[in-house]
Amino acid sequence: MSKSNQENQLKGPIIVKSVIPKNRQELIKWNGWGYNDSKFVIKEGPEVYFSGKRYLIGELRLPHIVGWVRDTFNIDIGVQKPKKIQELPNEDKYPKPNITDEALEQISKLGISYSTKVIDRLIRAHGQTLHEIYTIQNSTFERIPDVVLWPTCHDDVVKIVTFAQENNTVIIPYGGGTAVSGAPECPKHENRTIICLDTSQMNRILWYVHQLYYYLLSKELSKTERYWAN
Ligand SMILES: Cc1cc2nc3c(=O)[nH]c(=O)nc-3n(C[C@H](O)[C@H](O)[C@H](O)COP(=O)(O)OP(=O)(O)OC[C@H]3O[C@@H](n4cnc5c(N)ncnc54)[C@H](O)[C@@H]3O)c2cc1C
Repeated sequence: MSKSNQENQLKGPIIVKSVIPKNRQELIKWNGWGYNDSKFVIKEGPEVYFSGKRYLIGELRLPHIVGWVRDTFNIDIGVQKPKKIQELPNEDKYPKPNITDEALEQISKLGISYSTKVIDRLIRAHGQTLHEIYTIQNSTFERIPDVVLWPTCHDDVVKIVTFAQENNTVIIPYGGGTAVSGAPECPKHENRTIICLDTSQMNRILWYVHQLYYYLLSKELSKTERYWAN
């Protein structure tokens, strides 16, 4: 480690709350884009609102949407019925995980949280392209991960990689699942067990780049923000 990196090393890891919970579906739409609480709502009139308070347009009436949708898509929001809310998929909608009992027992002994539930595997089987969102709403993915693991630190990742090497298993890392390249999708014809390694619970800050931090402090932050940052 270089001298400057040593200086930037914190005395111990700072644990921060994960932005995305293990149960992503509690926060984020399981079958669409964005947060559960942020959506267009059509009321009598018709009038359109955007729900939630995460965005500047939250809880505001959007007076021009009705006309824009009519002129652009030739759709009358007052007449068009919204699509029925899609139920969470049953366990039997997708094949059972392609993993032996022995391998699953080994995974359970790693001491790392894991799941083989369809919903956990399905929502991590894709990114955010239109094609992927269409598939989850109207069809099925030909292949989804067999087991999801949630490491919380470097050593957990080492254990998972070692397990995968010893058991001829595939790992697909998964961060926010926001890729628009199709990258998180499982190869259709993969016969080996596929582990989804979800990094969302790796929430410890180990070091930071002091020079960048200083630059941000000196250039960007207000006096109050600098006080709190110090
Ligand atoms: C609304 C929207 C706006 C966007 N705007 C931008 C933008 O302005 N600029 C931009 O660059 N991108 C943008 N993107 C694309 C997307 O946010 C980026 O590609 C994002 O950086 C993907 O990161 P992720 O953690 O979500 O990766 P994921 O989607 O989880 O994974 C992407 C790929 O990286 C691999 N991977 C994930 N984590 C790791 C890891 N720790 N180690 C090794 N491999 C890993 C995965 O296996 C997969 O192959 C946007 C996407 C959306 C949906």
